[in-house]
Amino acid sequence: MDDLFDSLPPADAPEPMHDPAAPPALVVRGLAKSYEDTQALVDLSFEVRPGEILGLVGPNGAGKTTALRTIAGVLPIESGQVSVCGHDLVADDVEAKRRLGWVPDDPQPFDTLTVAEHLEFTAALFRVADWRGRAESLLERFELIEKRDALGGELSRGMRQKLAFACTWLPSPRLVLLDEPLSGLDPRGIRAARYAIDELAKEGTAVILSSHLLELIQALASRLLIVDKGRKVFDGTLEEARTDLAPNPGSSLEEIFFAATGERVLDALPADPTATP
Ligand code: ATP
Repeated sequence: MDDLFDSLPPADAPEPMHDPAAPPALVVRGLAKSYEDTQALVDLSFEVRPGEILGLVGPNGAGKTTALRTIAGVLPIESGQVSVCGHDLVADDVEAKRRLGWVPDDPQPFDTLTVAEHLEFTAALFRVADWRGRAESLLERFELIEKRDALGGELSRGMRQKLAFACTWLPSPRLVLLDEPLSGLDPRGIRAARYAIDELAKEGTAVILSSHLLELIQALASRLLIVDKGRKVFDGTLEEARTDLAPNPGSSLEEIFFAATGERVLDALPADPTATP
């Protein structure tokens, strides 16, 4: 398989640890996207720096998956610009894409490749040197050792998710896009994934973490991007969100989220009967 990708130059060495003054790993400017009569993204602009975890939140249909799929290069850019580590996603697409990893909300591996072959394929595609030891430790980390010879088509939902993590982590990308990364995982898998995401950012990778699990966002994200109806409604640190958006001192992230995405939600919701007093 190595010969297939000989035309690509080897991947760069990973970025150093998080430096707040470092140039952004991702710059998004004026992104717009419509599906027939739905305007899914409207003039969306934001940046993510190396080592930062950006929590992407918003109600159902807000445009989060559309934004991630566009940045991943899966959906064509209708208008606006995306640049990954200074490489324009359209003009310099190979250089941009080789620096990014994407775990979609429902990963679909190749039916006829085994788990181990997915890693081998990824290593060849991204020209990862000495990948076998790293692949082995990722199989272990994401509890796939016993499934190394299982075909993609035989994997459960959670195992597909774990394989997507392993393949995304293998080339040490500079930017990782995670769309509801914990859905389908068992409690051990959730713990491993949370730890792996945190560690990835500490090693200097920029991460976008899209999730409805506000507790996960609160625990891992250093910044928050709230979108609603395709528009950015807040972009800043969690502290800034508390200062700018919190309806009351000491408001939870859930209350901040409701405040940012419309009072109507607060008005319409009954008190949570499961909340601890
Ligand atoms: P959720 O939290 O429910 O996953 P989201 O924030 O990820 O939602 P998107 O999936 O990006 O939102 O959808 C944004 C808007 O675009 C919605 O109004 C949705 O109905 C619409 N949309 C998404 N994909 C398509 C498609 N393939 N065809 C038509 N409309 C679409």
